[in-house]
Amino acid sequence: MIKGSCCCGTVKFELLKQPSMMGTCHCSRCRKVGASTIVFVKKEDLKWVEGKEHVKMFQPEEPYKYERSFCTICGTSLGEILSDMDSFPIAANTLDSGLEIKNSFHEFVDEKPDWYEICDDAKQSKGHPDT
Ligand SMILES: [Zn+2]
Ligand SMILES: [Zn+2]
Repeated sequence: MIKGSCCCGTVKFELLKQPSMMGTCHCSRCRKVGASTIVFVKKEDLKWVEGKEHVKMFQPEEPYKYERSFCTICGTSLGEILSDMDSFPIAANTLDSGLEIKNSFHEFVDEKPDWYEICDDAKQSKGHPDT
């Protein structure tokens, strides 16, 4: 069981299984919302404990297509935690438990600021890893 929460503790959830994958996105969008490192979770493995009603989802403006959700009390970025997809990314920052996986890719590395140096051997790509 993996526990996750926002900074103020209003939002609490659990993951019944380990996330399938961890990656880091260096695009300006992910950087600004503070959710660069994400883990992919299956919808069926996400169990809400409390605070779901305090999560607000923002739709992206063109050309961006990924929604973002936040705790409306403290602003913690929660990734796509309200998604209806079978599998979706949530911000790794929100997890309170240790994980068995490590970062396995860096995407949008061409948008990475110079002050951030990649210090692991994970695969790098300019866009999404599968493009
Ligand atoms: Zn909060
Ligand atoms: Zn991104």
